[in-house]
Amino acid sequence: MARLAQTAGLTDIQQEILSTVRDFVDKEIIPVATELEHRDEYPQQIVDGLKELGLFGLMIPEEYGGLGESLLTYALCVEEIARGWMSVSGIINTHFIVAYMLKQHGTQEQKDYFLPRMALGEVRGAFSMSEPALGSDVSAITSKAVKDGDEYVLNGQKMWLTNGGSSTLVAVLVRSDEGHPEGTAPHKSMTTFLVEKEPGFGEVRPGLTIPGKIDKMGYKGVDTTELIMDGLRIPANRVLGGTTGRGFYQMMDGVEVGRVNVAARGCGVAQRAFELGVSYAQQRHTFGKPIAQHQAIQFKLAEMATKVEAAHAMMVNAARKKDSGERNDLEAGMAKYLASEYCKEVVEDAFRIHGGYGFSKEYEIERLYREAPMLLIGEGTAEIQKMIIGRRLLEEYRLQG
Ligand SMILES: Cc1cc2nc3c(=O)[nH]c(=O)nc-3n(C[C@H](O)[C@H](O)[C@H](O)COP(=O)(O)OP(=O)(O)OC[C@H]3O[C@@H](n4cnc5c(N)ncnc54)[C@H](O)[C@@H]3O)c2cc1C
Repeated sequence: MARLAQTAGLTDIQQEILSTVRDFVDKEIIPVATELEHRDEYPQQIVDGLKELGLFGLMIPEEYGGLGESLLTYALCVEEIARGWMSVSGIINTHFIVAYMLKQHGTQEQKDYFLPRMALGEVRGAFSMSEPALGSDVSAITSKAVKDGDEYVLNGQKMWLTNGGSSTLVAVLVRSDEGHPEGTAPHKSMTTFLVEKEPGFGEVRPGLTIPGKIDKMGYKGVDTTELIMDGLRIPANRVLGGTTGRGFYQMMDGVEVGRVNVAARGCGVAQRAFELGVSYAQQRHTFGKPIAQHQAIQFKLAEMATKVEAAHAMMVNAARKKDSGERNDLEAGMAKYLASEYCKEVVEDAFRIHGGYGFSKEYEIERLYREAPMLLIGEGTAEIQKMIIGRRLLEEYRLQG
């Protein structure tokens, strides 16, 4: 699309990366996405292509074999990929979050051990906070680690792991009371463990089972799973950062960059929905003219394009804030909230423009219609974003005196 969602001030390298990714999306993803999605098939060929492009190491520092790019570059690539097929952006998202957490919080040994292979896409990351009884309320986690000599023994059940089957490294957040007296605040008694495992389903490591794929309404192709720990033994040197009790903060840091990423996904899906809507509106005739010539449809297109522009601008702003080293939780929360809501609305309008054909599986908009709702939930629901935004506003605008 020539006009919408442009980003000013990109370097030549950023522009080159984006144009390569866009080309890949147009040639390798869009033509096959809907068919693969309907079959709920893992897009192995696309993933191999992304590996070759170096996308698994996009933000990993060059000293570990990555491209050392910024969050903005990453988010703009995600926007392009989600425009092609949102599930593919989900495949790299959890990997990116785990690599980011390692880069920010890992010990030197952990970085040296994992990051070079993550940059190549040989080690693939997933992260696991949610449990069957909780998602928003992370402080209520019940999975537990107990120290036993040089190891920890982990027990509990996790839920909703994106890439749970295909990953080989899962960052798992559990309660670890060791060293923390009773009464310690919940978020101070949690630890992130770096759990290596075989890809696939069943018992993927002694004490660790990935039961199978959860059947979902959309976001297909990418595997979403449960994870069961039953006497899972993890060496002490696989505590992220080497010290227990810091897991909650590490995960929240990861999720914060993840939110920019989800906003970028919303932008990409909304852009595609607009492209489909504006194209269909010029082809379909009613009452003697293309429906695009009816003002009611033009108004829809105008609203859709305005939402695409606004969401893109907020997403870029949130990414740039983080890249400049500033705290960006307010901007990331706003961008995630707005982009996911707008995405749902733009997709719905494109669906309406398609009339009855939007309901047919032959049309791409049918897939987008089932994909958009996931963005309202993942990395924190709209209500959770508004809680974060509200709290930060009250900090910023606290009455003096
Ligand atoms: C496809 C998919 C992939 C996912 N991937 C991952 C993953 O890789 N790793 C992972 O850890 N998790 C993952 N999740 C889980 C996701 O993060 C949670 O579903 C999400 O955080 C919401 O939690 P919940 O489903 O338990 O809903 P709940 O927390 O039970 O919330 C239910 C409803 O109540 C609202 N609510 C909750 N608390 C409040 C409050 N205080 N005030 C007002 N309203 C409130 C919520 O907004 C929501 O509308 C995934 C989920 C899905 C659907």
